[in-house]
Amino acid sequence: MALINEHYLKLGANYLFADIAKRVNVYKATHTDARVISLGIGDVTQPLAPAVVEAMHRAVDDLGSSERFHGYGPEQGYLWLREAIVRNDFLPRGIHLDASEVFVNDGAKSDTGNIGELIRWDNSMAVTDPIYPVYVDSNVMNGRAGTCNEQGEWSNVVYLPCTEANGFVPQVPDRRVDMIYLCYPNNPTGTTISKDELRKWVNYALRNDAIIFYDAAYQAYIQDDDVPHSIYEIRGARKCAIELRSYSKTAGFTGVRCGYTVVPKELTASTMDGSRRVALNPMWNRRQCTKFNGTSYVSQRAAEATYSPDGRKQVAESIGYYMENARMMRQTLADAGLRVYGGENAPYLWVRTPDGKGSWQFFEELLYGAQVVCTPGVGFGPSGEGFVRFTAFGNRADCEEALDRIRKYI
Ligand SMILES: *Cc1c(COP(=O)(O)O)cnc(C)c1O
Repeated sequence: MALINEHYLKLGANYLFADIAKRVNVYKATHTDARVISLGIGDVTQPLAPAVVEAMHRAVDDLGSSERFHGYGPEQGYLWLREAIVRNDFLPRGIHLDASEVFVNDGAKSDTGNIGELIRWDNSMAVTDPIYPVYVDSNVMNGRAGTCNEQGEWSNVVYLPCTEANGFVPQVPDRRVDMIYLCYPNNPTGTTISKDELRKWVNYALRNDAIIFYDAAYQAYIQDDDVPHSIYEIRGARKCAIELRSYSKTAGFTGVRCGYTVVPKELTASTMDGSRRVALNPMWNRRQCTKFNGTSYVSQRAAEATYSPDGRKQVAESIGYYMENARMMRQTLADAGLRVYGGENAPYLWVRTPDGKGSWQFFEELLYGAQVVCTPGVGFGPSGEGFVRFTAFGNRADCEEALDRIRKYI
């Protein structure tokens, strides 16, 4: 008799975006001539950089040629891409990685969800609150998160609140945990972590023999010089951290699919009886060779093109476009009297609801009063209550009109 993995039954449906869509549809059904603008989407809108498109065309022609055809590639990704990553994303910041420490993937979500299988199912974990849901849900599926209480908190997960009071910088836990998920610049708050604060986490992990999973999907949006792009800018991080990156938000690859995971050779963890330390890099390599067959040749050529002189310039322009949206949004919302966080080194703004309103209440008010859609912060965790998230991924004209309406409404 095949028995299901009952951990899946503990997962609620992922209601947040379905719930938003439902409420927007109710509004539209009763206000048929209204034009609703969404500042809630977490997807890019600008087209791919021309250098990337050219590289993809060339790659397709390769696949159509008997001399340049490519079948299965290396499970770890093509060496030319891994070397380009090492040379462009890390070396300029003084980080020396070997190409064998880089694993190319089909986007960061898969590895973020899968990487936890290297660690025993009963190890404890900590996450920031609010949070990108993958970190917890993937651990619910393998039984690590424990059981859920009525507040939606899991028994084996330590929650680290990120609030106005602590400047959205979580404090290291007052107890031992084995695994920690950090995301900077942060989705949903759009805030960053300084080198000094990140150092506390690396030191905590080294002291407690914990592993940090560092999601740097938004590092390309960092504008300030003193904000770390990589956790490996911190001494000792190679011994305790795995970093996940993606071309999705960096270069508009949400539909192309390419990212990578760094598993340093120096990163080790103990066996249960403590007799042996085992390197995670060969374990992840073994896992990838068994369960993954590489991301497409075309996607990898596309990723490589983001590092060409033209590619870099064009990718930077599109990030500049979104960051100009973010700047306008910050300005307008702050001028309207709202308390606004993030949006300076990330495409997200985390906005305090006025007069202590709940996230959903303010969401409805903006929908009915300004025909603008945002994302209720409470959907990302209990500490998100009393906030909404705006994204800067819209096109300029929509963004301007939405801001105009919000200003008039407030
Ligand atoms: C968008 C996003 C990613 C990247 O997802 P992909 O699978 O690479 O498209 C990773 N982490 C966070 C927090 C994100 O918001």
